[in-house]
Amino acid sequence: MRRWVLGGLATGGLAIAGYLLVTARRFEIPGRPSATALPPMVMTDTLRRGESLGELFGRHGIVAPDLYGLVTSLGLDPTRLPEGWVAQFSHPADHPVASRVTVRTTPEEELSAVRVRNAWQLERAPIRWNTRAIRVEGSVSTSVHDAMLAAPLDEALGPDQRIRLAWDVADVFAWQVDFSREIQPGDRIVVLLEWLESERGETRVGKVLAATLEVGRRDYAGFRFALPDGRVQYFDAAGVSLRRAFLKAPVEFRRISSGFTNRRFHPILRVNRPHQGVDYAAAAGTPVLAAGDGFVVTANWSGNYGRLVELRHRNGITTRYAHLSGFGPGIRPQARVLQGDVIGYVGSSGLATAVHLHYEFRVNGAARNPSTVDLGDGTPLPAELLPRFAEERERFRALLEAEPVSSAGPSAP
Ligand SMILES: [Zn+2]
Repeated sequence: MRRWVLGGLATGGLAIAGYLLVTARRFEIPGRPSATALPPMVMTDTLRRGESLGELFGRHGIVAPDLYGLVTSLGLDPTRLPEGWVAQFSHPADHPVASRVTVRTTPEEELSAVRVRNAWQLERAPIRWNTRAIRVEGSVSTSVHDAMLAAPLDEALGPDQRIRLAWDVADVFAWQVDFSREIQPGDRIVVLLEWLESERGETRVGKVLAATLEVGRRDYAGFRFALPDGRVQYFDAAGVSLRRAFLKAPVEFRRISSGFTNRRFHPILRVNRPHQGVDYAAAAGTPVLAAGDGFVVTANWSGNYGRLVELRHRNGITTRYAHLSGFGPGIRPQARVLQGDVIGYVGSSGLATAVHLHYEFRVNGAARNPSTVDLGDGTPLPAELLPRFAEERERFRALLEAEPVSSAGPSAP
């Protein structure tokens, strides 16, 4: 079951193939009265290491050309099925050839192909999931990851899910907090998240419903809310969107090598020169994101900066991203970029002692500290939506503020 959960997370919505079926079930085979009273035999079988789909199905008597029809009917891409992928085969009593094959296409659906004479007929069965909210509270010792890993909660929330949760929280507050630089020991994080359990007993983590952060002396809160046009955003307690014109950090959060200072001893030049940006230590090749909407001014080699991208934004703001190992697709002068677009990759080109991103935020040409600069206000919800938002917020808030009880978590299967 754990593998199912992790497999589903790892492949995201990518492939039918990522979902592993765990529970066995008996099937009736209509129109095939058995000569004996024996019920059909249902077998769960798994794609083994290095094995082809043909070999797996061959064990159940399904061979070419029958096999091709079945694979097509089920919509399977044989090249994308991972080791451990599971299918169920129903054999009429004592018969080596399966007459029914069941696979899981998505977490919400099970698909069966039933042999009817020489063809396969499809049957779809929905899988119901129950959703409830669970609360995770963590205190930072070294990082948000640590806080989530150490949070007292049911063991059903595995390490991978906890790390992912830390990232999801960082996404919610991507415009408020630079998670690689501003998080300090003692900071507190409380997250309310969806917990889903299927009628088959599988479990998975859903969306972040709400979260509060205590970073330094500042408090942040985010509440998930669906707008009438279907977009989903996080809003503060007053109903103002957490989105801003600029991300706090133009890379996914990692430990950084130095913060913003006006004067710094430059490790290569060996002179005290102003350091007019923020350095983010990140693995080579880490995508660098446009901090805000704008236009590309420069995407070229630029002396000590190495490969440099400079973006021009509204209100006289420019941002610079230096020491890149390469440029993002379509990043050339005049190109339009949107916030979050990949504009390049972390490297060590130019005058750089180590692999890192050098990021500058300039207002009318003067360097400013991106972590303290005022990034303006977010968009408030229209007045007519506020009552519904307030209702949601209070529901989430009550759950966020509930006493942490470890036994309140989901029970282990
Ligand atoms: Zn720098």
